[in-house]
Amino acid sequence: MSQGKRGRELGMQRNIARRDFLNGVGVTVGASLVVPGSILGEMLNAADRPFAPEEQAGYYPPAKTGMRGSHDGSWETGHALRDGKKWEHARKDKETYDLIIVGGGISGLAAAYFYRQQAGNKARILVLDNHDDFGGHAKRNEFLSGGKKLIGYGGTQAIAGPNLYSVQAKQLFKELGIEVKRFETYNDRKFYSQRGMGQAVFFDKETFGADRLVRGYQGHLQAPSGEFLAAAQLSEAAKRDLVRLCTGKVDYLAGMDAAAKKAYLAKTSYQDYLLKNVKVTLDLIPYFKPSMHGLYGVGIDAVPAGDMAGLGELPGFAGLGIDDRDGPGIGLEVTRQDAEPYIYHFPDGNASIARLLVRSLVPGIAAGSTMEDVVLAKFDYAKLDERNAPVAIRLNSTVVHARNLGGAAHPDGVEVTYVRDGEAHAVEGKACILACWNMLIPYICPEMPEAQKEGLAYNVKVPLVYTNVQIRNWTALDKLKLHRVYCPGCMFTGIDMDFPVSMGGYEFTQKPEEPCLLHMQHVPVGPGANAREMQRAGRGKLYATSFETFELSIRDQLARALGEGGFDPARDIEAITVNRWPHGYSYEYMSLFDPEWPRGGAPHEIGRQPFGSIHVANSDAGAFAYTNEAIDQGWRAVTEILAMKG
Ligand SMILES: Cc1cc2nc3c(=O)[nH]c(=O)nc-3n(C[C@H](O)[C@H](O)[C@H](O)COP(=O)(O)OP(=O)(O)OC[C@H]3O[C@@H](n4cnc5c(N)ncnc54)[C@H](O)[C@@H]3O)c2cc1C
Repeated sequence: MSQGKRGRELGMQRNIARRDFLNGVGVTVGASLVVPGSILGEMLNAADRPFAPEEQAGYYPPAKTGMRGSHDGSWETGHALRDGKKWEHARKDKETYDLIIVGGGISGLAAAYFYRQQAGNKARILVLDNHDDFGGHAKRNEFLSGGKKLIGYGGTQAIAGPNLYSVQAKQLFKELGIEVKRFETYNDRKFYSQRGMGQAVFFDKETFGADRLVRGYQGHLQAPSGEFLAAAQLSEAAKRDLVRLCTGKVDYLAGMDAAAKKAYLAKTSYQDYLLKNVKVTLDLIPYFKPSMHGLYGVGIDAVPAGDMAGLGELPGFAGLGIDDRDGPGIGLEVTRQDAEPYIYHFPDGNASIARLLVRSLVPGIAAGSTMEDVVLAKFDYAKLDERNAPVAIRLNSTVVHARNLGGAAHPDGVEVTYVRDGEAHAVEGKACILACWNMLIPYICPEMPEAQKEGLAYNVKVPLVYTNVQIRNWTALDKLKLHRVYCPGCMFTGIDMDFPVSMGGYEFTQKPEEPCLLHMQHVPVGPGANAREMQRAGRGKLYATSFETFELSIRDQLARALGEGGFDPARDIEAITVNRWPHGYSYEYMSLFDPEWPRGGAPHEIGRQPFGSIHVANSDAGAFAYTNEAIDQGWRAVTEILAMKG
């Protein structure tokens, strides 16, 4: 879509809050843009001082809008490393540490917490992260609308299945003051239904032949209502098949016993199951195509039908006689993790967990002591990296090398090289935990054995985009009586009003006249013979997509989907934050593409072996894209170090 007249109608010329020019700390800005006294002005005037943007007054990354997530300035050094760049003559840091942690996501922060707990408060720990904020995927987005603060999540959304958390993860929550039961009160689960607000499907003309917003949708598993069927932009054959699929109890695998059915479904995509076994018309496929994007990062042509049977997310299995909820696929943990209600959500998602960890690690950074008061607590980023503090969190610093001093067989500590503002620094420590992304570790640690590097490189993370759109009111949604719209053919496959959570003095919007955030999710999927190839190709597409392209698509989609309710993007959009995660979820093995590895022989298990004094954490090390895995892997790496020390 070109901008032109349509772009102007949609409000592309409007001066919304998208200070994307400030996103990267290393960004070059024309002098004419610098407003005297502005944050940017202060940053540039400080050019003759050592690089320390975090110490500047007003340094507060959660309030930045525009392109966030892996923002510009965070990824370039990593890519240069991948492309063979070397940093020689690093300047030696004076301080040395007991532990250096690469990656300030939940895994790295939890590792710092566990290590300090075991080694004592005097232990010196350095956490290095390439982003301008801590938390990794646990990203907080803030907005201001007429003096009212709106808090959103730019990455990890909710505590999924907390009862299944390990003993140490539960204990960590307890020590941080997180009591998940309290969300049962904070999350007003009936908010939308009590207002009569439900879900709809937006059929777009490019995919389905005409734009149409269709109400009466209650999710994929429910039998479609008469209202929905009458209006759905689907062929008559597709409508008949949809009803058959959702209401029939047919055994589409008659003749196979339960074990054979499970084995078959594990190796058959949901799309193939629909076409070959249920024999639905091809017309129905686009309707279901992106329904698993948010969980798997690929379309239904690449998700195992067995996982769908186990998850109970998509229809067509009721008559198979496989009555246990466990699917035959490898992603069984997802099934169990999702069995609990999905309500354990801080206003900033799991960024509050990262903030609680940082508040505990860095004394004086923020006031308060509870899971409630962290929501509005003000964080002083200047305190993150204070000289002589036992725990230092150094942002805007990309690690390019970690090596064992004395070799891997007889390590005598580690040296970690990181690049900050284009300059290489070398810092020494007794041990190091790589709580970053597995696929980057072979470049950071080229001395590792080849088999280990191969194991690490296997994990191709899922690219995805979480967008927050600040709107000045939600009267259009109230008029349409909708809080969620599934948009199977659009760039953003969902438009969601936020979780109705009020806690710690933060109030979720109560009235349609008030501003609120819309959450819109996009998953770039590329071509490929397996999920990892599709994700790699999707990542390429994502890096090539500009903020402007996202903005235009957001405006266009909202205008078309919500226009009937009076939504006008030119008037109603106040700010946009696009959280781009080219390296998102950890890859979880899929029965369609991966073999069943022997115990201990899976790529992530080979990859996470200690290498001298270098240890591996992060959720990739568990091949499971959840907070509890990030915590558990941090714990494992710390226990490895302590065991080695005896
Ligand atoms: C959009 C999105 C939504 C999610 N939703 C949920 C959810 O609802 N619930 C849930 O449980 N999980 C969710 N997850 C999964 C999430 O990945 C994990 O729960 C967890 O937050 C991962 O933590 P981590 O520390 O292992 O990795 P990360 O959060 O990725 O942290 C690793 C950090 O290391 C940094 N790093 C990488 N390379 C270097 C380097 N060379 N030098 C310095 N630093 C480096 C990275 O930039 C990053 O900041 C979601 C993930 C995404 C992307």
